[in-house]
Amino acid sequence: HPEKWCRGFNHFISQCLIKDFEKRPSVTHLLEHPFIKQVHGKDMSLQKQLAELIQEQQQLCSVAKTRHERIHTRRPYHVDRADKYSLDDDLVNLEVLNEETIIHQLQKRYADLQIYTYVGDILIALNPFQNLSIYSPQFSKLYHGVKRSSNPPHIFASADAAYQSMVTFSKDQCIIISGESGAGKTESAHLIVQHLTFLGKANNRALREKILQVNPLVEAFGNACTAINDNSSRFGKYLEMMFTPTGAVMGAKISEYLLEKSRVIKQAVGEKNFHIFYYIYAGLYHQKKLSEYRLPDKKPPRYIDNETGRVMHDIVTKDSYGRQFEAIQHCFRIIGFTDEEVYSVYRILTGILNTGNIEFAAISSQHQTDKSEVPNPEALDNAAALLSIGSEELQEALTSHCVVTRGETIIRTNTVDKAADVRDAMSKALYGRLFSWIVNRINTLLHAESGMNVGILDIFGFENFARNSFEQLCINIANEQIQFYFNQHIFALEQMEYQSEGIDATTVEYEDNRPLLDMFLQKPMGLLSLLDEESRFPQATDLTLVDKFEDNLRCKYFWRPKGVELSFGIQHYAGKVLYDASAFLEKNRDTLPADIVVVLRTSENKLLQQLFSSPLTKTGMFCTALLTLQLLQLPYSLMDLLSKMVVGQPHFIRCIKPNDDREALMFSHERVLLQLRYTGILETVKIRQKGYSHRILFEEFVKKYYYLAFKAHETPLGSRENCLAILEKSKLDNWILGKTKVFLKYYHIEQLNLFLREV
Ligand code: ATP
Ligand code: MG
Repeated sequence: HPEKWCRGFNHFISQCLIKDFEKRPSVTHLLEHPFIKQVHGKDMSLQKQLAELIQEQQQLCSVAKTRHERIHTRRPYHVDRADKYSLDDDLVNLEVLNEETIIHQLQKRYADLQIYTYVGDILIALNPFQNLSIYSPQFSKLYHGVKRSSNPPHIFASADAAYQSMVTFSKDQCIIISGESGAGKTESAHLIVQHLTFLGKANNRALREKILQVNPLVEAFGNACTAINDNSSRFGKYLEMMFTPTGAVMGAKISEYLLEKSRVIKQAVGEKNFHIFYYIYAGLYHQKKLSEYRLPDKKPPRYIDNETGRVMHDIVTKDSYGRQFEAIQHCFRIIGFTDEEVYSVYRILTGILNTGNIEFAAISSQHQTDKSEVPNPEALDNAAALLSIGSEELQEALTSHCVVTRGETIIRTNTVDKAADVRDAMSKALYGRLFSWIVNRINTLLHAESGMNVGILDIFGFENFARNSFEQLCINIANEQIQFYFNQHIFALEQMEYQSEGIDATTVEYEDNRPLLDMFLQKPMGLLSLLDEESRFPQATDLTLVDKFEDNLRCKYFWRPKGVELSFGIQHYAGKVLYDASAFLEKNRDTLPADIVVVLRTSENKLLQQLFSSPLTKTGMFCTALLTLQLLQLPYSLMDLLSKMVVGQPHFIRCIKPNDDREALMFSHERVLLQLRYTGILETVKIRQKGYSHRILFEEFVKKYYYLAFKAHETPLGSRENCLAILEKSKLDNWILGKTKVFLKYYHIEQLNLFLREV
């Protein structure tokens, strides 16, 4: 059949024809090719079609070849650049400042593989979507304690600035990495940890090794493949690296925030479960240990097999998952987990996988129609065995529940749906608590007594899918918080201070997302309060929830599209997102029946017992966070994490995704422009041009820099005059003295520190 042949032709013979075509690139010549003539005789239109196909293929090959050559033969400009300093490195140096000039500059730099650009002290990082050779130890040395302008912009320079600032001012620092999903936040966070461990020149190599293993371990449990990013963070992470006063690394601490537990039980089409499940299944498969953990070797467990056949094929044919499992075992060992602990973790993970395979069927008797049973008791036995609990007890807890009324406890049976919900709630709780335990254990093993720290915030990026659920709302509210924090630091606080210090600095307009945060966080009428309130009504449904939102949230940021009952829209700082409120209440309640807790507490697995021994106080995803924050009196901070950062000196890194196809060297003008717009980069450049990012109290300034104008044994007062003397002596320009503070540009600090070193 010609059509069939055409398809076949395209695959098998094309290579041969292409070779011919390359030798003589002429369509007429190609039409004369014996292959084409022989099979198709006189059908000229088909012949022509085939020839065009070949031509197209040939073009594709040549594009791919050129691309490949361009990527692999071009050395990053860092290596080649002789002059080192270029005005192009900082957008603040642009003479004409508007969206077009900014984007033009970024595009030009990106084409030269200059993925980093400064906006004053802020770093813009464009995702290169390819491995660059600019992160080796030589580069770490290059960016060690030198003036920022000595080298081209680099993530190591930002890490170095935070480190130097911590050592110089004895003050905690925090590096805030933001950007949408897939923009490169997690990669940037790794690079920062890499450089900080280098700078923290610990004599203790073992400790350095441990710290470097923390990210891979935590990310195996907290990251997953999504439609946007193959290694997407599904939790918020704040990693603090502790240093001695002289700057030697002492330890580390992680705080985790809002793990997307629902992924354990279900993933959207094209997405996957948390990495660790594939690693462990593949690892055990290759080590021929699946039967020990009661897992089948023909078909992976339901929780990790949403695209039937694909996963098994990957596991059998590719060894990468298996190798990742070995890497994780290595991480556990290096960080200091005991063999017994690791074994318990594996049993819980495989216990969860087995739990997912438990099925339920209805028993209909004369009197009862809402009773369920387990038609595959072997799955139940497997789960119970791995979790070291009684199989019968587990079945009881899944298929029935106790109700306490007027001091009396009665047992009610669960319907099939209810039993399945309880099973999934148990899996989610097991995974969530296991994750928190791993994080806490790492914190214990890497604990350091006080000291100064550099914190690195890497959270899940802003998301807008075809279908957005509760998880996307949580993620986007967190990003809204980060944006607010950025605005506060870059615009609001700076401008407030100019006013109070009597300084005449031009104000820069910026998009304030505070009204939107008010809509989320206000009490009692903010979206989250309404959600928590509705979650407490047993009769409430997702529809009553959306009705409640509509009745109470009367502002331009909220709307309800007509014709789709459970849908509502939010105008986020990064764009409009349409949410589907199905299962919002259930997800927010996040309840685990007491019956399950009781059974799990009887486990002979000590770790599992411990996971469920703490009292269950949580009543909603946001309740605990809000409570903590109320105590800390941070009305505009949803996150406990942010409250920690507030005490540190912030450093911002804005990651930008140059295209949605994850292609190297492809720069989508439109996509970049959108990100520049919603992150307020234009305004940021303006304020960095005109503003004073460092504001230091007279006393502090004199204490720090008196060497520059006074003798070492002198103790000059922290007065305005003495500040003036130091500034004049150091021959800086463009600074201002306020009523109580010295106002400096972002580049002054570096110059002053350099003078200090010279003195
Ligand atoms: P999410 O919000 O989904 O967690 P993210 O911003 O953390 O996304 P990353 O996982 O850091 O995104 O990056 C996505 C991918 O982009 C990486 O897996 C990697 O392939 C590529 N990438 C990012 N930064 C770099 C870099 N500096 N060098 C090489 N590749 C990079
Ligand atoms: Mg990430």
